[in-house]
Amino acid sequence: DRYLLEVNGLTTTFQSRDHTFNATDGISFAIRKGETLGIVGESGCGKSVTSLSIMGLIKSPGKITKGEIKFKGRDLLKVSKRELRVLRGNEIAMIFQEPMTSLNPVYTIGNQIGEALKIHKKASGKALKARVIELLQMVGIPRAEEIAGDYPHQLSGGMRQRVMIAMAMACQPELMIADEPTTALDVTIQAQILQLMKDLQKQNNMSMMLITHDLAVVSEVCDHVIVMYAGKIVEQGLVRDILDSPRHPYTQGLLNSLPKSAGSERRLNYIPGYVPPPSQWGQGCRFVDRCPHAMDKCREQLPPLFPIDEAGRAAACWLVEKGGQALVGSSIG
Ligand code: SF4
Ligand code: MG
Repeated sequence: DRYLLEVNGLTTTFQSRDHTFNATDGISFAIRKGETLGIVGESGCGKSVTSLSIMGLIKSPGKITKGEIKFKGRDLLKVSKRELRVLRGNEIAMIFQEPMTSLNPVYTIGNQIGEALKIHKKASGKALKARVIELLQMVGIPRAEEIAGDYPHQLSGGMRQRVMIAMAMACQPELMIADEPTTALDVTIQAQILQLMKDLQKQNNMSMMLITHDLAVVSEVCDHVIVMYAGKIVEQGLVRDILDSPRHPYTQGLLNSLPKSAGSERRLNYIPGYVPPPSQWGQGCRFVDRCPHAMDKCREQLPPLFPIDEAGRAAACWLVEKGGQALVGSSIG
């Protein structure tokens, strides 16, 4: 198989009090072995719903209503709950933004990592203990024997995220899904954790799906990127192409809101406005109210993804259909 993960037309539907909406609206993408895909967008664009859908963790009344999610050729929407549990943790692992909510406060770090190994790898006794220490060392935790006996609250945020990564790596997953893994951390620690994830990904030839609101993070770590807006993919391609010449006005806006100099926390040029809630999605382009290039047609018709090159680059914008380079380098905000 060419791809480790293939998502085709994924539609995940939720029900709010007065209407039904698709939090992911027919999205498609694929990840090869050893490749890192970034999914970027502001909050409310459907990034987390995408990862939870893949993990089989969408809670009722939310529900996947269309599409397929193929992992190594098998459709995860057709396997049993039991099989999915085995896949989760064993072959697909996930880490989240807030380690405190995923770690159990009443068990030691060593116990929690050991638990994953017991369940998935049937490890026990001395071998189990040795593997726990090995994992803690692998994620750069000093004095691993000592730290294994600590409780989560005794560690810093950065150390807790390293522990979460150790747990995720415990079963040598083929795919790691990381949802805003460094968002809660300060800039220096964030860079260290990203470097660690990159190293582990390379050493293990693991595939990674990294979800973030921050294009700077994508540029550090990812090979390919998809940009999501209001449940849709609006741009996709190689990271270097997208950063060099973003074609969708939303991607341009995200890029322009990055800090101008390294280490600077100031973000100028925020995109004005907000991501529309589903109740405000019209029939046209969902970015229309924030777009400096909006035309009449944009309100009337939803632009499909227009291919830009043979390498899979595409953008969902009527200006791209015209084939002009007009968008390149133009600014927003
Ligand atoms: Fe802007 Fe129109 Fe393109 Fe949407 S389709 S991003 S409103 S120019
Ligand atoms: Mg999210």
